[in-house]
Amino acid sequence: MKEIVPPPPAIVRNDMAATQALFHKHVVPSYARFELALSHGSGSYLYDVAGRRYLDLGAGIAVCCLGHAHPEITKALVEQSGKLVHVSNLYYTEPQGRLAEALVNLLAPGKVFFCNSGAEANEGLFKLARKFGHGEGRYEIITALNSFHGRTLAGIAATGQEKAKQGFEPAVPGFRHVPYNDLDAMRAAISPATVAVLIEGIQGEGGITAARPEYLLGLRQLCDEKKLLLFLDGVQDGYFRTGRFQSFQRILENAEHETRNAERFLPDGVSMAKSLGGGFPIGAFWVRAPYADLLGPGTHASTFGGTPLACAVALRVLEVIQREDLADNARAVGEHLRTKLLALSQKYPSALKTVRGLGLMLGLELAPDIPAFANHGEAPSIQFVNRLHDAGLLTIPSGTTVIRLLPALNLRRSEAEEGIKIIESVVAKLG
Ligand SMILES: *Cc1c(COP(=O)(O)O)cnc(C)c1O
Repeated sequence: MKEIVPPPPAIVRNDMAATQALFHKHVVPSYARFELALSHGSGSYLYDVAGRRYLDLGAGIAVCCLGHAHPEITKALVEQSGKLVHVSNLYYTEPQGRLAEALVNLLAPGKVFFCNSGAEANEGLFKLARKFGHGEGRYEIITALNSFHGRTLAGIAATGQEKAKQGFEPAVPGFRHVPYNDLDAMRAAISPATVAVLIEGIQGEGGITAARPEYLLGLRQLCDEKKLLLFLDGVQDGYFRTGRFQSFQRILENAEHETRNAERFLPDGVSMAKSLGGGFPIGAFWVRAPYADLLGPGTHASTFGGTPLACAVALRVLEVIQREDLADNARAVGEHLRTKLLALSQKYPSALKTVRGLGLMLGLELAPDIPAFANHGEAPSIQFVNRLHDAGLLTIPSGTTVIRLLPALNLRRSEAEEGIKIIESVVAKLG
């Protein structure tokens, strides 16, 4: 009689070299990747293919807002995929309608268009603006220097960073950039062809710089005066990351003057993606009521936009965020992290220059000319992130001198403490 032999226990093999070889041979090399091959995760921890554990304070670039392998996301995926994954936008589906309702209720009267990414959400706003100004021949959109709005052709045209544009000329016409947080520069840049202004509440790829409350209020006034649409790119700083649904709401809590205007402030459009699906791809833009029907039937579309699966997952993510008060958690744990990191920057000024940001969107700026980073080809931010990897922590570089913390919104205080300890261990060796 043959014995039934149970399968061997799953072992984690170190497939780093094999995986890397596949990439080098078959994947378009458009990304500079770190020397890490990740295998699985749980909450705010990730494991590489060799079984090594990392505390993840990057969350897939502000995407995995409930951490990794959250059981409710898994459940929503399984339940909805057993029912209906996709039907196209030729038909009505309940999850899309319910998610749109939820997003409108979180902001203000208006409507929502669904797509699959941040770039696509911004693209929708660009088309909305062009439609708005078409009758008067207005088409120009003004954005900020150092901004980031995605990698499509219009996205890189809107992005205020030369490095995103280089090699892809000619640029999509109709975009200009002005210094951020500079209302006079914005006013001076407006031409008869201008139709909209697009900014991030907190510049993410640009190194974590927040808009000042007066800037937001001034832009609203200026846009009203000049009949321009005011758009906020909330792809990275939105979705409760700062302690409020959108970063402008958090920023305007600190308005010292014009508090009435601060309470009434609303943009005309907001783009979203990243955290919206907790890791499942989904993007969206909200448009304020007076403009909500500008994009009529046949004017804009996305095959995958707002599938029942994506929307069911996003609805579950939102349910968990609200049930567990994760906006408050982001605010409290973020403030704790910020205070501790500021203290570190005071203790090690030769390594850390400063800390910026709100809630769980924090930027750690390195001091200039750190000796340990001299004589290396790589930017200080990359070298610092690599050292953090060696110490068991994942973070996201931003430019050459800033490291971003964009962790899951359910990050525990103890995990934040662990992160600070790891950062200090690395910083102490530099200072
Ligand atoms: C990430 C990001 C985008 C682009 O989103 P994708 O999903 O990568 O297309 C746009 N704007 C901001 C502010 C972002 O951070």
